Amino acid sequence: MRPETDAQMLRALYMQGVQAAESGDAVTARPLFYRLLSEASRLGDLHHSNLALNEIEMLDGALRLYSKPRGMHVMLTARCNMACPFCYAEHMGDEDLPPEVCRELKGLFPYLQRVVWQGGEACLHPEFEDLIKESAKHRHMGQTLVTNGLFLSERWMDLFAETAKFDLMLPVESMRPELHGRYRPGSSWAKLAEKVRMISEYRERRNPKLSLSMNVVLMKGNHRELPAIVDFAAENGFSAMVLTGLYQCSDGFYRQEHLSFAEAREYLDGVMPSVRAKLEKSGISLQDRFSPPAAPSADGAADGRKPTVRCRAPWQQLYILSDGRTRSYCYCQEDIGNLKSETPELLWNNARAMALRKSMLEGRSSRCHQACVEGRVESYNFRMI
Ligand code: SF4
Repeated sequence: MRPETDAQMLRALYMQGVQAAESGDAVTARPLFYRLLSEASRLGDLHHSNLALNEIEMLDGALRLYSKPRGMHVMLTARCNMACPFCYAEHMGDEDLPPEVCRELKGLFPYLQRVVWQGGEACLHPEFEDLIKESAKHRHMGQTLVTNGLFLSERWMDLFAETAKFDLMLPVESMRPELHGRYRPGSSWAKLAEKVRMISEYRERRNPKLSLSMNVVLMKGNHRELPAIVDFAAENGFSAMVLTGLYQCSDGFYRQEHLSFAEAREYLDGVMPSVRAKLEKSGISLQDRFSPPAAPSADGAADGRKPTVRCRAPWQQLYILSDGRTRSYCYCQEDIGNLKSETPELLWNNARAMALRKSMLEGRSSRCHQACVEGRVESYNFRMI
């Protein structure tokens, strides 16, 4: 079928190129990306021009990039209205990303495929509203807001509705009031359930495109609630669910609540078939970051072969912390710079960023997180499409 519009033609070229590149066929991929570059430049489409240039630079194994970042994950502030015992931002003080850095990030909007906003609680950042208003001018940008949900109001929803593609990601660990209170001090199950109802009602009335996803941290105390949480997601129109384990956090809580896959296996082996069936029937996609990969992954770790990483994060994205420190992805252990002292353009091609790209090309993963090296992070997190 012939694409009907310029936008469809660009998208089709891009997808054909990615498919060829992903199957290792650079001979087919390269001319497709050059054609995409030429068509997008002719149409003045900065976003697709940048995608094409970035793909060509990845095929070439370039260390210094002329393309701009395609993705950003931004922790806007470490401040929060809640005090969850497993929060990463807990160790980050109460810093906000400086307003001048926020202004510089807006300069990347014409190129971005995807942005994730998070905190702390991102809604507390004084620039957040302005960032969303500006992002609405860039129709190619997909956005996710990871939020505890308590600030969400009709006014915020109206702002999100102005953007092209917006996803709200809410945390649900327990629907039992007492346990919810223990995991999410400062909130309550009743408050969160009320916000979910408000969002569902808003979507029906005003903006069915707004999507809703759920993050569930599986722990000792809550993992048996998973089937009930899945029912709640299905009843309330969620379209995606992410299952994760507990990351290292405050000692006492971690000791009490950390659940390994081995400990949960017997229970999960019993319920996961029906959980998956229910999710599929309800049109909810699942990212299971809790269970180890079932089959040998393309990245090679799960079957005992020598682990290698096949990660394009250093060519594609920036992960920005509220104190300005910046990495390629949340799993990276080393910062490549700090946006308080470098502009995004300088940082993108500084010596550390280029050294990380070089180490990826040489198959050296000594700088990388064990989870990446062992193939416990899905490949698609390393490759933006
Ligand atoms: S730590 Fe993971 S995400 Fe970061 S560069 Fe290494 S493999 Fe990629």
